[in-house]
Amino acid sequence: MSSARDRAQPVGEGFAPYAWAPSVAEVAAQHGLPPQAILKLDQNTPPLPGVPQIPLALSLASIHTYPDGTYRELCEAAAAYTGTKPENVVVGAGADDLILLLGQVFIGPGSRAAVDPPTYPVYRIATTIRGGEITGPDGPADVYWVCNPNNPLGTWIDPEPIVERARATDGIVVVDEAYVEFGARSCAPWVDELENLVVIRTMSKAFGFAGLRVGYALAHPETAALLTERRPPAPISGFAAAIAAAALREPRLGDVDATISERERVREALVAAGYESWPTATNFVYVKTDEPLGQRLEAEGIVVRIYRDGIRVTLGRPAENDRFLAVLGIEPGRSGGREAMVLRTTTETALRLTLALDGSGRTRVETGIGFLDHLLTLLGFHAGFDLELLAAGDLVVDDHHTVEDVHAALGSALSQALGAREGLARYGSAVVPMDEARATAAVDLVRRPHAEIDLAFGGDRVGSLAISLVRHALERFAIEAGCTVHVDAAGSDDHHVAEAAYKALGQALRQAVASGGAGIRSTKGAA
Ligand code: PMP
Repeated sequence: MSSARDRAQPVGEGFAPYAWAPSVAEVAAQHGLPPQAILKLDQNTPPLPGVPQIPLALSLASIHTYPDGTYRELCEAAAAYTGTKPENVVVGAGADDLILLLGQVFIGPGSRAAVDPPTYPVYRIATTIRGGEITGPDGPADVYWVCNPNNPLGTWIDPEPIVERARATDGIVVVDEAYVEFGARSCAPWVDELENLVVIRTMSKAFGFAGLRVGYALAHPETAALLTERRPPAPISGFAAAIAAAALREPRLGDVDATISERERVREALVAAGYESWPTATNFVYVKTDEPLGQRLEAEGIVVRIYRDGIRVTLGRPAENDRFLAVLGIEPGRSGGREAMVLRTTTETALRLTLALDGSGRTRVETGIGFLDHLLTLLGFHAGFDLELLAAGDLVVDDHHTVEDVHAALGSALSQALGAREGLARYGSAVVPMDEARATAAVDLVRRPHAEIDLAFGGDRVGSLAISLVRHALERFAIEAGCTVHVDAAGSDDHHVAEAAYKALGQALRQAVASGGAGIRSTKGAA
């Protein structure tokens, strides 16, 4: 009897299955390193996960039914985000799914597809799996695969020459814009004019949702309809579609800015050290080299993508990038810092919080409750922390869960960042006036969780925040932080009262976390 492999349709010349870089477990085993020491800088995914902007409970409500197979909500959100119309959008399970769909629709035995190597290997797979043949970038071809910005080099071109190519050919021109948010211009404005132009986008890169598997193509309505006809009835889960749609409706691309600034810092450090690395419009840098840098990095637990003449390195968090640079002998002189990250996803809230105690008061707080953002921004600033908090809660219910979970996360991040609590000033206190209001805060960082919160509010709300929740939320903060917190504040304007209270708490924390000698200062000896 013939094997399944014998029965399989033949593939075109040059077919090679997709190969991932080695996994954490493989690298750990091969180099005798603990798995937690392995740093994966090979996937071109952002260092921090995207935060779902809808509570899980909303999407789980219909887990027993199929998703809306037209993905109307997602198509509308993608159209609004890209300046196109819902009829231009085709949803797929990641950009990869759409690349393969395009191959299925436009490539068969004898077809020719143009690629410009080195580039993303899935174009070759989508071509040869259909029995098609790969040609050079100039064609003539039935399909032109254009990766802009290009993976792995990071280089990019303007859309105009790509559009010219589409005007001049009968072939399908596919522009993979997986990394477009990191700095390139899009071909999306031309899809209505050119029936043979298809733009591919993904939620895996700038949005931080690679695990969700959502991508979309933008094309002329006729082309989009054809692609939709030929794809599976419901290629992505309703759960994934709902999270992606919410993210596209209100894009939070602050992580992209952070990655871009790291990209510039890392590349400048590489160039200054004599390495060849050019500007990129992506979330990675390419280092051209004849040395076995990839192998050297892997032996130190850092996984990058290795190419014939260089390595591709995905930007991570600043401390991770410093680890990479250090292996190349580049010391950027940053301190490790007392840092923490908290990720929490429940049916009520999803949040991501990063905290650096030795920061400079840089904050980015987005909870969906404007006045809460204001208070936490003030707290972070006055404490001198770098605080980044993205949260999305069930605000359709009320703000209770969000307010409480956010404070709990901040407390647990503080506790994590304090580590063994050695060398701390331990105590901090502050009196902060704000016009007629006055607040007092006192903290003790020794592990005695206790809170005394007395905030004299006259009303129920400031903006969209139910301020009655603040007392209990600050108690949660103290308990999770494992420290003693006293805050009292009074005045005639609730906005001022709350603001003074958070500023005072920030000032008190700034003093308490400061360095204060060896061990935590206690007459009892140990903390
Ligand atoms: N296109 C390019 C250029 C890529 O680099 C990648 C993934 N690394 C993809 C597409 C695949 O994206 P997705 O996760 O949406 O399938």
